[in-house]
Amino acid sequence: MVRKKTVEDVEVDGKRVLVRADLNEPLDENGNLADDVRIRASIPTIKYLIERGARVVVASHLGRPSGKPVPGLRLDPVAERLSELMGRKVPKLDDCVGEEVEARVAELAPGDVVLLENTRFHPGETENDPEFAKALARLGDVFVNDAFGAVHRNHASTAGVARYLPAVAGLLLRKELEVLEKALREPKRPLLAIIGGAKVSDKIGILESLLDKVDTMIIGGGMANTFFLARGLNVGKSLVEPNKAEMARNLMKKYESNGVKLLLPTDVVVAERFSAAARNKVVPVEKIPDGWTVMDIGPQSRRDFREVINRAQTILWNGPMGVFEMEPFAEGTMTMAQYLAESGASVVVGGGESAAAVRRAGYAHRMMHISTGGGASLRFLEGKELPGVSCLLDKE
Ligand code: ADP
Ligand code: MG
Repeated sequence: MVRKKTVEDVEVDGKRVLVRADLNEPLDENGNLADDVRIRASIPTIKYLIERGARVVVASHLGRPSGKPVPGLRLDPVAERLSELMGRKVPKLDDCVGEEVEARVAELAPGDVVLLENTRFHPGETENDPEFAKALARLGDVFVNDAFGAVHRNHASTAGVARYLPAVAGLLLRKELEVLEKALREPKRPLLAIIGGAKVSDKIGILESLLDKVDTMIIGGGMANTFFLARGLNVGKSLVEPNKAEMARNLMKKYESNGVKLLLPTDVVVAERFSAAARNKVVPVEKIPDGWTVMDIGPQSRRDFREVINRAQTILWNGPMGVFEMEPFAEGTMTMAQYLAESGASVVVGGGESAAAVRRAGYAHRMMHISTGGGASLRFLEGKELPGVSCLLDKE
């Protein structure tokens, strides 16, 4: 990342600066913001530009309106929260391209800031249509991509627009990339990865790519079930991907022949049904009863994992250890968050649900870094290209 130009490498004074931020926050059933972490994380770049006399035009998507205006996905609640947090009014325009928008942007004075309407109200956004990208580019003299959560998308506002404007990274994007890159390429060792979540198929890429980077790998959550199956264990009615069992078996072999320790839970919390109200109990993984469902890692596994955590210097965590949304099955994930916080290691948390779990456990401030981009951080750790980054200007 250090190889890409950032907002600090370009002249912005008096310029119109188009900033792609990731203000895509979850909404509750009343259409109110359910979170504001990403909005908060976007502010340093906006402030930086304002202080340097730029005319700041902020763009973002919200949800999945699929190419047409959806009233419930307008950015008004985002503009309101952004205004509150910045302590100044951030006006929101009714569209993100077009003559009227261009006229409003032309009126901006140095230090002014406006927010455009949801970029995904236009089909050209996700199609990365050159005409739509050009229309966006007419709103700026410089493009700053700060939307880490969207850099794995090859969309008009995340990548396409960079063909028509000098394009650089914002402060959040730079920080996200620096932290991930450091953890991956020059970590203090031992380097431990803890991978969980629902499905193996979502995380095959990361399990493959971390093989020759980590010293130890812990696999938990629903995806461990497929590994249990690969070992010939009964998994009852658990979430499992039988067609991925062969792959899990191969991965275990590869880890072994690479000399990387791969730990799976040795005990689990099982429930009679996939429900918070269901009867539950702790069993060794060899004794998962027919018809029952694995919901969380067990207490012995937590203790074993804690020892590995305490020996590690750098830890990557992606994916909860159990169905933490249900109170009776949250403990595995919550105690892991606690152990990570207490470990003294540099902890990097990626993944939307994992980040939410860490915040709920109250340990967010004790992690070195919590990524604002689940999909993007996964893609980075898989070693894949990020279109929103590769489109930026290289440092000389
Ligand atoms: P992240 O967003 O952190 O990358 P994922 O999206 O991969 O995580 O997975 C999160 C989901 O995995 C959570 O909603 C959680 O309920 C689910 N999960 C974890 N363990 C299990 C399990 N044993 N059975 C079913 N679902 C599980
Ligand atoms: Mg997720």
